[in-house]
Amino acid sequence: MIELSEILIGRFLRKKWKKQSVQKTIIRSPENYFSTIKLSIYVIISIYYKNGIQILIPRKPAYLQKSYLRNMNDATLQKLKILAESAKYDVSCASSGTVRGNKSGGLGNTVGGMGICHSFTEDGRCVALFKIMLTNHCIYDCAYCVNRRSNDIPRTAFTVDELTTLTIEFYRRNYIEGLFLSSGVMQNPDYTMERMIRVVKNLRVIHRFNGYIHMKSIPGASRELVREAGMYADRLSVNIEIPTEENLKLLAPEKDHQSVFKPMSYIHQGMIENMEEQKKYRHAPRFVPAGQSTQMIVGATSETDREILSVSSMLYRQPSMKRVYYSGYVPVNHFDERLPALQVPPLVRENRLYQADWLMRFYYFSADEITESERPNLDLDVDPKLGWALRHPEKFPVDINKADYEMILRTPGIGVKSAQMIVASRQHTKLGYWELKKIGVVMKRAQYFITCNELPTFTIQEARPEYVRKALTQKANDKKRKNPDQLLLNFPE
Ligand code: SF4
Repeated sequence: MIELSEILIGRFLRKKWKKQSVQKTIIRSPENYFSTIKLSIYVIISIYYKNGIQILIPRKPAYLQKSYLRNMNDATLQKLKILAESAKYDVSCASSGTVRGNKSGGLGNTVGGMGICHSFTEDGRCVALFKIMLTNHCIYDCAYCVNRRSNDIPRTAFTVDELTTLTIEFYRRNYIEGLFLSSGVMQNPDYTMERMIRVVKNLRVIHRFNGYIHMKSIPGASRELVREAGMYADRLSVNIEIPTEENLKLLAPEKDHQSVFKPMSYIHQGMIENMEEQKKYRHAPRFVPAGQSTQMIVGATSETDREILSVSSMLYRQPSMKRVYYSGYVPVNHFDERLPALQVPPLVRENRLYQADWLMRFYYFSADEITESERPNLDLDVDPKLGWALRHPEKFPVDINKADYEMILRTPGIGVKSAQMIVASRQHTKLGYWELKKIGVVMKRAQYFITCNELPTFTIQEARPEYVRKALTQKANDKKRKNPDQLLLNFPE
């Protein structure tokens, strides 16, 4: 049908305006040439102005045929299985916090707060990204990684075109809302990074893809490549993996923290320069609009939660660092004696670290306050905020009608929104039990730590911290089946 219309129009135009200059009109994206209306308009205009027009209809590449996914050959399918499986251990992805609108003729968009690969955004939505590795070949031999050089696993790699096409096809079918691209290190960091950039560049420039892209930056990659990647990706991340250099050297002798911190600083500098450019030129292209993130593995080495949180706190001092992810160590390489003999990943510990991270970012807690030097690990039974309140009964009860915003924020059972509403509404009336409940305060928790009008129960000063702890954890402990060994490091004999 298309070929026929191309021939007819071409013949017609050649006959009519044989000697006239030919204006070339290229229909840019393949899906547009189905529009007969568009073709008709071009023809009518050209007849009206007696202008020659040559319509170049790009032939649709085989991989963009509708049936591509259906007929995807076994080799591609196999690659997809292997590389999606290899990518699943990387958790450094979540809501992006970036907005990228669609442009005329473009494909898709990125809605603010949209996140990654069946993870939950801050507003509770579940979103999906195409989480994939470019290759699982790797020249390194990190003890904690399933893709390490010495593991006997099936290895494969996508070509740049294959991965670009798969992403577009999945997006068109609404399977995904963006891409999370990672990779093992082929040949050297720059070689790998260059291929990854070609994928995201093709998506943005050739396919005009506006969906969310989170790309890993390979540790040790050069400044120029990190900068180029930042022009196409919404978020870049470089994984620290192990919080201290000493333990990183133990498990990944070929890596060091310097190779991670350098790309981080390139991203940070790039963001600052981009902010200046944006001030001067309104339409200056954005550089990693969703900032950078990183990941630390928890439980593979002997670092305490206090050490982990102090590394996070140091990273958060850079405004470009949006998230630090904590990945409970998944025991994939049981045979390696450098690793602890965990049966299950330390998920409760991982969860407590995320809560502590939240306290540092939104509740004005410092890393030193969340844990104590005598007890450097987080209490697995209670959340870190409740743990801090139980260790500091002298700070409570807080008078809801008079206390500072920061102190209200530190009260268990009161979140950021509730604290803001308390401060706003107490200007109009004295707040009591029912008003706080309406605001959304979790009174079951907060009742021991606050005073207000008509509060029926006693506070932490009347009851002892041990009583409050028991009252607040008993039910949860009955429900939860926890692994008591989550903080232990059982290295094989
Ligand atoms: S460099 Fe990355 S992919 Fe390669 S072994 Fe280490 S953690 Fe795994």
